[in-house]
Amino acid sequence: MKIIFSQKCLEYWQSNHPESPDRVKRTFELLKEKNFEFLEPEPCSEKDLLLVHEKSYVETIKNGEFYDSDTPNLPGIFDYARLSVGSAIKAMKIALEGEKAFSLMRPPGHHAGRNGKALYAPSLGFCYFNNVAIATRMALNSVKKVAIIDIDCHHGNGTQDIFLGDKRVLYISLHLDDFYPGTGKKSEKNCINFPLPIGVDEKTYFENFILTLIEVKKFNPDLIAVSAGFDGHKNDPLTMGGLGLDENSFRKIGEVIAGLKKTSFAVLEGGYGKEFPESVHQFLIGYSKE
Ligand SMILES: [Zn+2]
Repeated sequence: MKIIFSQKCLEYWQSNHPESPDRVKRTFELLKEKNFEFLEPEPCSEKDLLLVHEKSYVETIKNGEFYDSDTPNLPGIFDYARLSVGSAIKAMKIALEGEKAFSLMRPPGHHAGRNGKALYAPSLGFCYFNNVAIATRMALNSVKKVAIIDIDCHHGNGTQDIFLGDKRVLYISLHLDDFYPGTGKKSEKNCINFPLPIGVDEKTYFENFILTLIEVKKFNPDLIAVSAGFDGHKNDPLTMGGLGLDENSFRKIGEVIAGLKKTSFAVLEGGYGKEFPESVHQFLIGYSKE
């Protein structure tokens, strides 16, 4: 198991924003203490961004010509976002070489659609470029089919926007219903959605999670990408009880994905509470099991 991380992702912030450098810094420190092995990412190219995003959208971010209520237009954000994409790409490449890898970087990505804000979404949701989607599209140069399992407690509307109708990709999301960004209420084509009610408990979560795995097995992908969000923790400050999960639940999620015995990589999405670092740690313990 390799962790892809650069201190550079801690260099930008906006006061009082929940998607803070501190959340990733604390996680890095915990994983370092636990002797995980780290690799530095390289920024992706503009051409890589165009694998899933419209040129006009990429230019908008590059030129800082945007305003988004919760996705701040900060100096250097284009380069920070490219580094986060590059980290996901690196994790994917390590996976294809036969080892699991986790991209511990920010900003997250799953709310970023082809043209930025996905249809009906109120905002970009802290995301600039879709890290997991770009890595997935690139992987499809080497493999036939990729399944994306999105465990963040928000629906990955950007990822769905990018891959809807693409027969080589299966997108599966378990998320809170009637919650930001308001999409993912039903399954469409290759995008299988499991909207769960606010106040859901761990037992119900796993009953649904097992169903997602049946879909993955049926699809029989060559590669699994995990959109690894941890805001489903019951104490997450952004999600009103999240998906009723705790640190141990994330270990079990990791174990179940590892149990599929597939080539796989994971990319950080959300997670904002004080239990976030330990949730990542536990997920990685489960996920790295052979
Ligand atoms: Zn989230």
